[in-house]
Amino acid sequence: MRLETLAIHGGNIITDSEKPAIQPITLSTTFVHQPDSMIYSRANNPNRNALEKVLTKLEFGADAAAFSSGNAAGVAVFQALAPGSHIIAPDDMYHGLKNAILQLFKGVLEASFVDMTDLKLVEKAFQANTKLVWIESPSNPLLKITDIKAIAGLAKSHQAILACDSTFATPVFQNPILLGADIVMHSSTKFFGGHSDILGGALITKKADDFWEKIRVVQKVGGAVPSPFDCYYLCRSIKTLPYRMKGHAEHAGIMADYLNQHSKVERVFYPGLKSHPGHEIATNQMSGYGGILSFQVKGGAEAANNLISKLHYFTNATSLGGVESLIERRAASEGPDTLTPPNLIRVSVGLEHLDDLLEDLDQAF
Ligand SMILES: *Cc1c(COP(=O)(O)O)cnc(C)c1O
Repeated sequence: MRLETLAIHGGNIITDSEKPAIQPITLSTTFVHQPDSMIYSRANNPNRNALEKVLTKLEFGADAAAFSSGNAAGVAVFQALAPGSHIIAPDDMYHGLKNAILQLFKGVLEASFVDMTDLKLVEKAFQANTKLVWIESPSNPLLKITDIKAIAGLAKSHQAILACDSTFATPVFQNPILLGADIVMHSSTKFFGGHSDILGGALITKKADDFWEKIRVVQKVGGAVPSPFDCYYLCRSIKTLPYRMKGHAEHAGIMADYLNQHSKVERVFYPGLKSHPGHEIATNQMSGYGGILSFQVKGGAEAANNLISKLHYFTNATSLGGVESLIERRAASEGPDTLTPPNLIRVSVGLEHLDDLLEDLDQAF
């Protein structure tokens, strides 16, 4: 099956004797004891199985585990590491997961935060106890591109696991496992859900090995699992993911060009722009540049806030990946320690008519 077909048929498991065309929601938390039956829905349930099945296929993996949020998925990887392990992670790592390492695993795990676009710095960061390399590409919010194949080579030569947060790319545009990653992580709250109404996360593994078994234990025993309702809705949303992503990327590409030649804009960050420092690598490892862009406006934080306040069709809110356009001054969401420039605006470019979006930006400028 090709991507679009897989997205529609890959997560539909019909076991009901009445043969509904669409897999129903099984809300029961418990199952009648019989040989090989499911037992309890924290461990296993039909809707989560269907979701994990379609995720596995979309990312060319061996297995997938669904979680109640993207952060829960990321934290499960850190929890599966032995105490005393060292992690190499991006200096601009998604702030929620960076905080998880720094706050929840303080004294348990060590971490070095490095610029993943500088392979020499990454190589230097390895220690005898380095067990995990975590990358995020494209990154949030500067859309930095990490060379997944190159980092996979480094991780392999040091016997470390490579995990890639591929939330911005989605499997429509990037398959980290095919580029050498061991684990792919997604916040399914974003493009998978696609309508800003489901919180979820996922891990997909290249191999069902011992480390994966530990992650499964964290999922089942830790219990940060999605509800059958959320799994059902994610399977439903995934059916349109390939077409939504095509629309998001087309709109983001044209909007990036528009902003790039605007006199009130200092700089635009979008991997599809030839001027983007990661453009060449993105072109090699992605089949599209995604639906997120960010830009710096002239005039600092005040000018950025001012611009956002004048928009009609872009909702001033955090998060991304929904059909509706969202916009925010990113540093305001990341707290006082952020490295994000104060005049940086991140846009999740939605599926409204592109001319309405561009006209709205025009009047706000
Ligand atoms: C949102 C996001 C996360 C965290 O996911 P939640 O579902 O909010 O817990 C992790 N990484 C990236 C890149 C994200 O955008």
